[in-house]
Amino acid sequence: MKGRAGTKKKKTLKSLCEECSARCCRYFALQIDTPRTKEDFEKLRWYISHKAVTLFVEKRKWYLDVANECRYITEDHRCSIYEKRPLVCREHSTYDCERQNDQFEHEEVFSSVEELDLFVEKRFRRKKRRRRS
Ligand code: SF4
Ligand code: SF4
Repeated sequence: MKGRAGTKKKKTLKSLCEECSARCCRYFALQIDTPRTKEDFEKLRWYISHKAVTLFVEKRKWYLDVANECRYITEDHRCSIYEKRPLVCREHSTYDCERQNDQFEHEEVFSSVEELDLFVEKRFRRKKRRRRS
């Protein structure tokens, strides 16, 4: 869940969530500084070395994604602290819901150090070429 606010008709929200296994409560994503130098990418290599962590880029912004579920989901996929749930959860709606997935247009997704290394290699090779010409 990235916690961006949105609006959607109540009926849509209700029906979508009723049929869902609380997908938005089973990960969290944090925006991180856009990496520019090799040192910046070193930090990302460390993040992504951890299990259940991926990186993605959306609208040129970089995010760290942790696929770890919330401790408050009940067995029937509901929130056991609904009245006291964090603000991010309150602001989340089906408008930015992962079940309406088409709107998530990730420019890049990295699931391993190898994938990230390949990207870094290409990027810095391109930069080098540009400097030469
Ligand atoms: S907001 Fe979307 S992902 Fe979250 S419970 Fe509702 S339908 Fe599922
Ligand atoms: S606190 Fe409730 S709404 Fe928020 S992520 Fe956990 S289960 Fe979902």
